[in-house]
Amino acid sequence: MTDWRERKGPIGVLTGAGISTDSGIPDFRGPRGTWTEDPVAELLSTYQNYVADPQLRARAWLARRDNPAWQATPNPAHQALVRLGAAGRQVGIITQNIDRLHQRAGSDSVVEIHGNMFEVVCVDCEFTDSMAATLERVAAGEPDPACPACGGILKADTIMFGQQLNSAAIRAAVEIAETAEVFLAVGSSLQVEPAASMCAVAVDAGADLVIVNAEPTPYDVYAAEIVRDPIGVALPRLVSEIVGD
Ligand code: NAD
Ligand code: ZN
Repeated sequence: MTDWRERKGPIGVLTGAGISTDSGIPDFRGPRGTWTEDPVAELLSTYQNYVADPQLRARAWLARRDNPAWQATPNPAHQALVRLGAAGRQVGIITQNIDRLHQRAGSDSVVEIHGNMFEVVCVDCEFTDSMAATLERVAAGEPDPACPACGGILKADTIMFGQQLNSAAIRAAVEIAETAEVFLAVGSSLQVEPAASMCAVAVDAGADLVIVNAEPTPYDVYAAEIVRDPIGVALPRLVSEIVGD
C-alpha cells in the first residue's frame, strides 16, 4: 500500500478545539478542558437550557465576554495548514472551532460547521449584530440583552447542542470530505456528530485518514496513521513531510 504522503490530490482537514489550545483557548474534553474542570459549564452549551433560563443566559454572556479567544492569535499548527495551500495543494478545512483562528492565520477555504463567536443572532427573527456591540450592551448593564427588532432571545452565532446544523455548511463539509485523498482530523475528540462523521465520509470515498490527537477517538480504527504527539509539533512536521520541504 502506498504511503498516504505520496497522494497528491485534495487534502481535507477537520479541526477541533485541540488545535487552538496552544493559542490559550481551552478545549472541552481534554485533560484541562472547560467541561472536564467544570461539568456544569456544559449546561451553557445546550440550546434548550439557554432559551429556558435567563440566569443561564446572563452567565453565558459573561462567558462570551471572558472567552480567551478575544486575545488569542494563531499558533504554528494553524500556520502549518496555510503552508499546505501555499505549496500549491488543494486544501479544504472543516472546523468545529468558533474562534476564527484559521481565517486569521490566512487559510481561505474554511467551513465553520459550528458557526462562530463573533456574530450574534436572534432565535426568533432575522436580526443579527456583532458580538462586540452586544457585549457593550452587557457592559452597560443589560445582563441578557434582548433582540432590538422583536424582543426575542439573542445568542452567539454558534451551533449549541440541541440545535440543527446549517445545511449549507454541512453540504460544503461533505464535499470537502468526499473529494479528499488525504483527510487529517486534528485536535478533536471526534465525539460530536455529525462533525466527526466527516472522517467516515472521507474514508468511504477513498481517502486515507490521519488522526492527530493526544487521546484516542472512536475513529482511530479507520485511520491510516495516528499521531499522539502535541499538535503544535506534530502538524508542522506532517505538513513538511507532505510538501517535502
Ligand atoms: P474536544 O474538547 O472534545 O477534544 C479536543 C481534543 O484535543 C481532546 O481529545 C484533547 O486530548 C486534544 N488536544 C488538546 N490539545 C492538544 C494538543 N496540544 N495536542 C494534541 N492533542 C490535543 O474538542 P472538539 O472535538 O472540537 O469538540 C468540542 C466542541 O466545542 C466543538 O464542537 C467546538 O465547537 C467547541 N469548542 C470550540 C473551541 C474553539 O473554538 N477554540 C474551544 C472549545 C470548544
Ligand atoms: Zn428578533
